[in-house]
Amino acid sequence: MSSTGETLMEFYRAMRSRFGHQAWWPGQTPLEICIGAILTQNTAWTNVEKALANLQAAEAMSLHRLHEMPAPQLASLIRPAGYFNIKAKRLKNFVAAVYPRWGENLGGIVKGRQVAQGDGFLDRDGATLREELLAINGIGRETADSIVLYAAGRCTFVVDAYTCRVLGRHRLIAPEDDYESVKDLLESNLPDDVELFNDFHAQFVMVGKTFCRPRSRCEGCPLEGFGHDVEETCNL
Ligand code: SF4
Repeated sequence: MSSTGETLMEFYRAMRSRFGHQAWWPGQTPLEICIGAILTQNTAWTNVEKALANLQAAEAMSLHRLHEMPAPQLASLIRPAGYFNIKAKRLKNFVAAVYPRWGENLGGIVKGRQVAQGDGFLDRDGATLREELLAINGIGRETADSIVLYAAGRCTFVVDAYTCRVLGRHRLIAPEDDYESVKDLLESNLPDDVELFNDFHAQFVMVGKTFCRPRSRCEGCPLEGFGHDVEETCNL
C-alpha cells in the first residue's frame, strides 16, 4: 500500500475507534436509499426522514406509483426535505430513467445482500451505473456515488464537503482539487472494498459534523495527532 494509503487507513482507524462502525442506511430498501440520496442534498437527514415517512404513508414507495404521480403531488409529499419543487423534478427524472425500461426491478442490496434476482437497474457494474445516473438531469456526482455505493453495493467513494475539508486541512489534497481528483486519490490509494468505502465516508461525515466544521475544533478530534492546518481549503 502507498504511504498515502497507509495514512488514510490510519485516519480511518482513528475515526472508527472513536465513533464506532456507522452501518449507514440500515434496514432500508434500495428505492428508499435512492430517494434519500436525491432528497438529502442541502438539507438535514431528519427532514429527509419526514419526507420518506410521508411517501410511505401515501403508499408512494414504488417506482410505479412515483411514475404515475403528478409532480405537484410528489412535491407536496416531500415538502419537509426543502427545495421540494426542484427535488420532485429530480425524483421524477430518476424514475423516468428507470421505470419504463426496468419496471419495479430496481435491484440493489440491503445489508450487503441482493434484494432480487440480480438483474435489475442497480445490479450492473458500478461504472455503467454511475454514468447512467450522471446522465439524469439533477443527479450530481455525490448523489450518483451515494446510490452506487449504498443502494447498489458497488465500489465507489462518495466525496462530500466534509471529506474535502478534512483531507484539505491535513494537506492530502490541494485547494484546486475537484470532486473527481479527490475521489481518485481515495480510490487509487485504498483497497477496493465496498464495506471500507461505506464506513470510511460515514466516518468523514462524523468527524466533519463533530469537529472539522467551518471553524475547526481540533481539540479532542480523533485526527488531532496528525499534522493539519485549520484554514478552510475545500472548494467543492
Ligand atoms: S478538526 Fe482539526 S484535527 Fe480534526 S479533522 Fe479537522 S483539522 Fe483535523
